[in-house]
Amino acid sequence: MIYNVITLFPKIIEDYCAESITKRGIKNSVIEVKTHNPRDYSLDKHRRVDDTPYGGGEGMVLACQPIFDCYFDIEKKENFEFIMLTPQGEKFSQKIAKELSSFEQIILLCGHYEGFDERIRLGLKPREISIGDYVLTGGELPALVLIDSISRNLKDYLGKDASSHNDSFSEGMSGLLEYPHYTKPREYKGMKVPDVLLGGNHKEIEEFRKQQSLERTQKKRPDLLN
Ligand code: SAM
Repeated sequence: MIYNVITLFPKIIEDYCAESITKRGIKNSVIEVKTHNPRDYSLDKHRRVDDTPYGGGEGMVLACQPIFDCYFDIEKKENFEFIMLTPQGEKFSQKIAKELSSFEQIILLCGHYEGFDERIRLGLKPREISIGDYVLTGGELPALVLIDSISRNLKDYLGKDASSHNDSFSEGMSGLLEYPHYTKPREYKGMKVPDVLLGGNHKEIEEFRKQQSLERTQKKRPDLLN
């Protein structure tokens, strides 16, 4: 999977991707993350990428020219998706992460300041995605959220001992929250690991986990049961 991130702050993306599983995914050639700075495409002599809004109002608006030129300069695969990060988009979910993992290339457009000149939406027709009903300063954190969660669905990304199949919201959990985990020691500060997990009876363990998953979904996220 190739991710192309259009951002005025490439270091935010690069620094995050240089750590942990994302770093390993890049090293193992499961993913590639490239950044593209619209400022490098600005035809303004001061490399400006924004301007004041027509009609007045606060804040600066990202202008069309640097974004259009940056977007068109990115080499496209046949099977790519172009996404604008915006609080006004469809709400991101595990389902969308899974769906997007089937593309060969994802181009992510990060906004900043007051947002985008509307003609960027009209002219480039991106799919608009929000990571939740709150407003962040820029699209970099949302872009990283997408890169991280989409990549977890790619074969060989998590390594052979891990899988996203049984994560909360995933198919393996029927869309419910995952059951609780325990590791050594058997007892810690008086809190014991449930006996069923120590007995080695796989059928009983499976039943226990299914029950726990249902109970915690009922308690924490009853909306998922519908
Ligand atoms: N004025 C815009 C509005 O009210 O819709 C918000 C602009 S926000 C300060 C700047 C940028 O951060 C946006 O263009 C977008 O790229 C990103 N952003 C902020 N909140 C986001 C969210 N919840 N999901 C995705 N992107 C977000």
